[in-house]
Amino acid sequence: MNFLDKWLYIIRNCSFDNTYKTSWAKAITEIALEFEAESLRNSADTVEIQLRDIAKRVLRYYFEQTIFFDLQQSSNPLKPPVLVTIVKKLIVDYQKHSGTVKPVKWFRANIESICPSEYQKAVNATIKALKTDVSYRFLRVEGKEVEEVYHYEQKADSLFMSADSLLALKENSLIVFDAINYRWTQMLENFNHSPRLSKKVRIIDEDQVRRKSLGKFSSYLQIENTDCICFLCGTRIENEAPAIDHVIPWSYLYSDDVWNLVFAHQSCNSSKSNVIPSENMIERLDERNKTLLQRMKEQGKLDKHVSELQLAVDSNLVRKFWIACQG
Ligand SMILES: [Zn+2]
Repeated sequence: MNFLDKWLYIIRNCSFDNTYKTSWAKAITEIALEFEAESLRNSADTVEIQLRDIAKRVLRYYFEQTIFFDLQQSSNPLKPPVLVTIVKKLIVDYQKHSGTVKPVKWFRANIESICPSEYQKAVNATIKALKTDVSYRFLRVEGKEVEEVYHYEQKADSLFMSADSLLALKENSLIVFDAINYRWTQMLENFNHSPRLSKKVRIIDEDQVRRKSLGKFSSYLQIENTDCICFLCGTRIENEAPAIDHVIPWSYLYSDDVWNLVFAHQSCNSSKSNVIPSENMIERLDERNKTLLQRMKEQGKLDKHVSELQLAVDSNLVRKFWIACQG
C-alpha cells in the first residue's frame, strides 16, 4: 500500500469508541495543506509536526461542534471524552469573559485574546490527551500497526512524516477530507439522533455559519397571527418588531422551516434559546400550523413554504422532532 492508501485505510477502519482519530487525521491533513508543494517535492527529509499545532485544530473542531450543536462524541453521555470536557470548560470560560452565550465560529470568537490563560490551559490539556489516547493508537487498526505512516516516540511533543507523505495528503486533500467527514458522521450517528449530522460535522469546514435572515417568514406568519401575539407569553407585541423564534431549537434542526417558526417578543425570544419546548407549546404549534395551512390555501398561496407546511402537517413532523429532540 502506498501512503495515501494507508491513510485512507486507517480513516475508514478506525474504531468507533469516539471521534478522536478522525479529528487527529483531519488536523494533520490540514497542516499538510499549509506546506508549499514545491518545497515538499524537493525535500528528501522528514518533516516535524508539533502536537501543539494538531491540538489547536482539534480544539477548534470540538469547540464548533459543541457550541453550535452540542454533539455527543462518544457512546457514554455520562462519561464524555476528555477533549469534550476540555472544550466545554473553555466554552463556559469564553461565555463568562465575552458576556455572550451566542454560538460563535472559532475564528470570530477570538478566544486566544479574550481568555488567554484558559486557552493555553486547554491547549496543554489537549496535547496531553492526544499523547496518551491518540498519537500512537491512531496507527493501530484491528490490533495491527499500520507501518511507515509517521514516526512517533511515545510522549514526544512532535511526530515526523516524510515530505512525500505530506505532499500526497496535500494533493489529495479533497478525497481525504471527504473520507474523514464521512467516517466522523458515521460515528456520530451511533450517539446522536438529531437530523442533518453530516451537515453539522462539516460546520468546521465553513468560514462562517450563515444564520439566514428570518424576515421573509414574517409575511407567512402574519397570515395566521394578524394581531401579532407572542407565542411564548401570549400577549400582544407592540412598539417593536416581532422576533421570529424557532420552537424546536435551531441547534437541533439546523434549518429554518415555516412550520417551526413563530412570532415572539424580543425579550421572550432571547431568554429561552435552546430550551426543549413543553408539550403544551407543541400542541399549540400543531394547531397553529393547521390553521396557517388552511389560510394559505384560502389565499391561493402556492409555493415551497406551503408545500413544506403541508408535508409537516401530514407527517406530524412537529411532534416527531419534538419527541426525538428529547434524546
Ligand atoms: Zn412575549
